[in-house]
Amino acid sequence: MDISGATEGGRRPPAALFGGAFNPLHNGHIALAGEIERRLSLSEVIFLPTGQPPHKESPEVSCAERSHMVDLAIAGRPGWRTLDIECRLPGPSLTARTLESLSIAPPPFFVMGEDAFADFLEWGGPGIILARSHLVIVNRPGSASPGARRTLLSVLRDAGSSLGEVDIPDLRELRGKGVTEWVAALPAFKTTIRLLTIDTLEVSSTGLRAAIASGETARWAHLLPEAVKSYIVEKGLYRKPDSRSALPS
Ligand code: ATP
Repeated sequence: MDISGATEGGRRPPAALFGGAFNPLHNGHIALAGEIERRLSLSEVIFLPTGQPPHKESPEVSCAERSHMVDLAIAGRPGWRTLDIECRLPGPSLTARTLESLSIAPPPFFVMGEDAFADFLEWGGPGIILARSHLVIVNRPGSASPGARRTLLSVLRDAGSSLGEVDIPDLRELRGKGVTEWVAALPAFKTTIRLLTIDTLEVSSTGLRAAIASGETARWAHLLPEAVKSYIVEKGLYRKPDSRSALPS
């Protein structure tokens, strides 16, 4: 069911960018990408590993290695690819700057979970991102839905939307009602914002890193694509420094 807040007009973009630290990439990312591809009838799903986050500590595992794990996970899937531009651009990675340097036309979808969207206004240059992509926000188990709703309200106001607070849904509420998609136009940016409810997996990279560090492979191996698991084991990634050399497979 689609209860669009507004119609989008024009053609749907054929490509989606999916940004993330992918530290490491897990089955939740793959399930999300597959669902987005199907639901939005995409011809391309582009994984965009973040380089150096602007407000966080840099991940211990390099952008090149995280990007390589994405490559391993998506090998053989037609239309799926990795774009390692943020690994190569110097300085902190800003999505706005990345989208400016990519200059994709027509603007692609830009996909994120509701936890990531809750902080969207602090990303730096949100207006640039809104002008250069159609945002797609998906539900994520256990995440801060009220934060995402507040951000949505601000984005719609700044974009000159006629929708008011009462018109704006919450992803949990949509899911509860069996609504799968909600779309609103962003007139000031000539793009759209879309909420999609999907069946997500309860897995996070943070949880995985802790599980891998524990050394108990059975706690984490099933949550990652096999090729990513093998790479992590082979390289001893995410292990405590003194245990990196002695790994069970
Ligand atoms: P961390 O635990 O280190 O924050 P993460 O599991 O959230 O990592 P990221 O690489 O930061 O993974 O996520 C990239 C994007 O994928 C984000 O927009 C995030 O919201 C989304 N995402 C990650 N895991 C899931 C999941 N299980 N279900 C739905 N969305 C997810």
